[in-house]
Amino acid sequence: MKQSMIQLPASEMPKQWYNIAADMPNPMAPPLHPGTKQPVGPDDLAPLFPMDLILQEVSQDRWIDIPEEVLDIYSLWRPTPLYRAYRLEEALGTPAKIYYKYEGASPVGSHKPNTAVPQAYYNAKAGVKKISTETGAGQWGTALAMACSMFGIDLEVFMVNVSFQQKPYRRIAMETWGANVHASPTKLTEAGKKILSEDPDSPGSLGIAISEAVERAATNADTNYSLGSVLNHVLLHQTVIGQEAKKQFEIAGDYPDVVIACCGGGSNFGGAAFPFLQDKIAGKDLRAIAVEPASCPTLTKGEFRYDFGDTIGMTPLMQMYTLGHDFVPPGIHAGGLRYHADSPLVCQLYKDEIIEAVSYHQLACFEAAVTFAKSEGIIPAPESSHAIRSAIDEAMRAKEEGKEKTIFFNLSGHGYLDLSAYDDYHNGRLTDYEYPEEKIKEALAKLPVI
Ligand SMILES: *Cc1c(COP(=O)(O)O)cnc(C)c1O
Repeated sequence: MKQSMIQLPASEMPKQWYNIAADMPNPMAPPLHPGTKQPVGPDDLAPLFPMDLILQEVSQDRWIDIPEEVLDIYSLWRPTPLYRAYRLEEALGTPAKIYYKYEGASPVGSHKPNTAVPQAYYNAKAGVKKISTETGAGQWGTALAMACSMFGIDLEVFMVNVSFQQKPYRRIAMETWGANVHASPTKLTEAGKKILSEDPDSPGSLGIAISEAVERAATNADTNYSLGSVLNHVLLHQTVIGQEAKKQFEIAGDYPDVVIACCGGGSNFGGAAFPFLQDKIAGKDLRAIAVEPASCPTLTKGEFRYDFGDTIGMTPLMQMYTLGHDFVPPGIHAGGLRYHADSPLVCQLYKDEIIEAVSYHQLACFEAAVTFAKSEGIIPAPESSHAIRSAIDEAMRAKEEGKEKTIFFNLSGHGYLDLSAYDDYHNGRLTDYEYPEEKIKEALAKLPVI
């Protein structure tokens, strides 16, 4: 029998997070205060985040203990399975071995609770009763709504308008966990009002929704803010993915030649790849590929410079590959990949050529997703389909070259709440957006000069 699922015993669940900042050859540039343009200190971030998370954000410690209370909740779905994709390999006729880690096994169907749970935990520990956040397609909002409900915290969610309209199910899920959800831009914040005065039909974007959520927290003493990607502490929490995968590869008696994940803000990529990159930085031969949409190609077409994390310019300035903070990407179905920049850690590693990046149009990704679903069963999230496209291309290259190769990709989530996107795909209603060159040029021209 071919054993597809490689399970890790519960006792082998990682007890620490891995902090790649301790091992990077070049550190990321410091975040700067949006007003003074001086490096931000812990006190600047204190109105938004609890001190435990701020300390993780700036930590240089290689290993950080996972609190017992967080491990208890992780154990509801972790360790997640690693699969050997025998049937996909067969369908492709490739000599490559393909493995994937299934983060859709979490209660909300994506990797996002890996950080939502510790973020809610540290806020609750600091006595915080209320959190505001943004969400794109709703995966982050659902993850944080579930986590907040577990720790008795009230949650207000600014959900990108286009996804709010296209994807009601995640709104309903958030409301089931007790969250209060708005279609962003709203008239509840100055940021939202400003955007709506310029564009009353704004589809919204993650950058706009972040502005609204940050404003809410910055102007309300009892409210903290929480971000589902990009920041160092978020990627840190996600490293349980790659750490588990390394142990599962040991069980399988294998090790990847290439690690692949889709990249929106970089958290599932960082989570899956960083524990392997620790080996690479120590000399091991390994490729890591971040896969992004061609309509929002931050790493592959962006500029490496300081920019805001949000649209209005309220967050600290971070050095990232960016398309410009007021660039609004086309409304592709992979809503979670529509972000104008990327994690500063991921960007620094890309700058230093420790990782690679590729971009794909959405039709090619849906085609790969359908191939995957037919052989492996799981219908992937539109975001994850980008990783699958790249993994299939790597497998086909191995076939052309007649070479063995071990490919590992992260299946960041399932697509059962995104089936309308598949309906659009099956019925020819999906198109590939041209790379919006002019709009990106305009947005880049407005970047702050440092
Ligand atoms: C949010 C999300 C992403 C993109 O976010 P990253 O921070 O880049 O991981 C990818 N896949 C799924 C399923 C998501 O929910």
